[in-house]
Amino acid sequence: MAKKKEKLIPAEYIPDVGSHVLTIDKVKYLIANDAMYTFYQRSKGELSPFFLGLRDDKKIFGCKCPKCGLVRCPPFLTHCPDCDFAPTELVEVGQVGVMLSTPPITYFANSLFLKMAPYGRGRVVLEGADTALSVNVYTTTGILAPGIIKKGTKVKVIFRDDRSGEISDIFCVPVSELTKAQVAKKGLLSSQINWEAAVEPTLKKATAAEQEAYKKALKEIKAVIKLMNETERARKDILGWKRDIQVKTTGGEFAIIINNGDISLAEKKLTKPDFIMVARSPKTLADGLAYRGAITDSVIMKRLWISKNMEFTTIFKLDRMARSVARSKK
Ligand SMILES: [Zn+2]
Repeated sequence: MAKKKEKLIPAEYIPDVGSHVLTIDKVKYLIANDAMYTFYQRSKGELSPFFLGLRDDKKIFGCKCPKCGLVRCPPFLTHCPDCDFAPTELVEVGQVGVMLSTPPITYFANSLFLKMAPYGRGRVVLEGADTALSVNVYTTTGILAPGIIKKGTKVKVIFRDDRSGEISDIFCVPVSELTKAQVAKKGLLSSQINWEAAVEPTLKKATAAEQEAYKKALKEIKAVIKLMNETERARKDILGWKRDIQVKTTGGEFAIIINNGDISLAEKKLTKPDFIMVARSPKTLADGLAYRGAITDSVIMKRLWISKNMEFTTIFKLDRMARSVARSKK
């Protein structure tokens, strides 16, 4: 089984043939795009059975020492150092486990891991194993915020539908977010779990003062979005990006539409938004868009909730637009 055909270097990272001028101390220098590349193949060596198990059979293997009985997962040793290097044997371990520690969350990943963020860096002791497996953890309840997955949380291994024999072929989600049948199923696929079941935070009915605050914030958000749309630099931040976002906040709701360089606000309810944003206070979003503190920070601090974890990228883009507007004013 192989992943859908894709190139080792994504097309967007490959520069066009061309050149540009760089001016340093009023002197012009011509800079040309060029390439230097090398490819190599990497063997998984003695760990091959483990990665083949993930890729082809949706199984997770550990290694068991026949003398002391210790099961290490992943099976990173072929001989037990505690038992005069007795040869270990490959055993299958369970696909449900417990978090050994509270996972740190990576929100701002480098380009290599950008497509996975935000993710929790989990250490999971699977049933039948004695050591912890390093594996990313996610939630199906919306954005991965601190506190959802902690030390001791029971988690289940999920297999990606496209697997190539890497540890990123699997990840874990809390058992509490799955049905009993899903927890019991071995080799549960990502496509078999419901990613749309995020539980939206409920908002209280707005008081008169909150309604006023909403009107005021909405006016500011409208003005900022108009300004973003008029700022070339900000438009560039959302080139090639399309998202219909439903924003819900105390006092009312509206839509933010991102469409390949254009951004607009519409006072309506979308029938099929790409994701939902909930902010208890409308000021949270107004502040973020106006570059008074980052929206990403509001997400991490749980002032603002989004329905899909992977849409953190869109939030990140909104922050960049806010910064672009602020910089173009200078
Ligand atoms: Zn041993």
